[in-house]
Amino acid sequence: MTAQLVETTSLWAAAHDVDARRPRSLQRQLGASDTVCERRAAYVLFGATPSDWSEKRAAILGTYIHEGLLGAARSEYGWLVEMAVADETIRGHIDAVQLDEATTARVPARHRPKVPAEHGVTVEDVKTKSTYLWDKVRRYGPSAAELRQVYLYADLLRTTGFEDRRGQRYLAKLGPLEVARIRFRFVNRDNGEEHVEEFAFDPNEATRARWWVQRVRELNSPEEGRRDFDGPGLDAICDHCPFMTACWGLPKSPGAAVQTVLIHDDADRTKALEEYVRGHELETEGKRMKGLARKKVDLSPAGVYGANELVWLGGNDVWAGDVQAMVDLHESAGLTVPMVPDEKAMVANLKAAGVAVPERKTGKVTSKTINVRAYKA
Ligand code: SF4
Repeated sequence: MTAQLVETTSLWAAAHDVDARRPRSLQRQLGASDTVCERRAAYVLFGATPSDWSEKRAAILGTYIHEGLLGAARSEYGWLVEMAVADETIRGHIDAVQLDEATTARVPARHRPKVPAEHGVTVEDVKTKSTYLWDKVRRYGPSAAELRQVYLYADLLRTTGFEDRRGQRYLAKLGPLEVARIRFRFVNRDNGEEHVEEFAFDPNEATRARWWVQRVRELNSPEEGRRDFDGPGLDAICDHCPFMTACWGLPKSPGAAVQTVLIHDDADRTKALEEYVRGHELETEGKRMKGLARKKVDLSPAGVYGANELVWLGGNDVWAGDVQAMVDLHESAGLTVPMVPDEKAMVANLKAAGVAVPERKTGKVTSKTINVRAYKA
């Protein structure tokens, strides 16, 4: 059977449409998962219409994996998954809650979890990540925004309990629960690897997360909200933010960076140049440190050294097209061998003969570069 390339409708259009109809996509009340950026949370809170359509393929894949894993945890372990929590300020769905033995005993027998949590009520958040971010996840664990999100869920459970709604009224009857543990389960969406971090619930972190939300609620407009990321082209969160244009505006001139909106006067320019120089210094020092370390371990065998694992990649044969063999195959098949003028050889010949190399304008312009020098008045 010979496979053929055919034009057909992409399934992603359907997947995006289904995603747009999910209750989470239609929800207008501030959700714990919206608390990634202060200004973005403010847009949601003020009911702003999204200004941008963003590509969601990776997020949709993450949702599918999420649903599959949590569904399995529900059917096999009886975990409480995707349960709603809410109060008048914020709402969300907790990925998984593991009840302790005492609380489990208060749940009607047919809903009772099969595996109680050993060390107290545990709130779990499942995050899918790409291989690209995996090293960061294993090294640094959850980000500040991820911690805030899970602490908001846990605090809602601790202060209000499960939301009283269809499908979980038996849980709402339990009232507020004393949350003892927080667990993050990171799943690599490329190879399924799991990385789990668990720690005791910290009431101070919960208070900090509540303050964060309170601050957003006190804003008079979304534009008063702090931009917590550096903007499109610099941060993927902004690249995929549904309020990107509302937040940064359009470029002031074609091709210009939208971050120019952050410059109002010469004091801003002075500060930006100082930051540029500081960044350059850090980059130079980082490059030097990395270069020396790389040379030092050049002969070290792969293995685990302290908190890091040394892995050697490469060292494989490099393959390239065999031009002579291709010419022979063309000739034996009676095909014309394409002849492309060899620019490099012609330039070398002309230079060797002392003849000026002819040039023409290409219609392109060189890219704009920056040069920041020390200035002494
Ligand atoms: S574009 Fe970036 S800074 Fe602006 S609201 Fe969205 S995430 Fe926040």
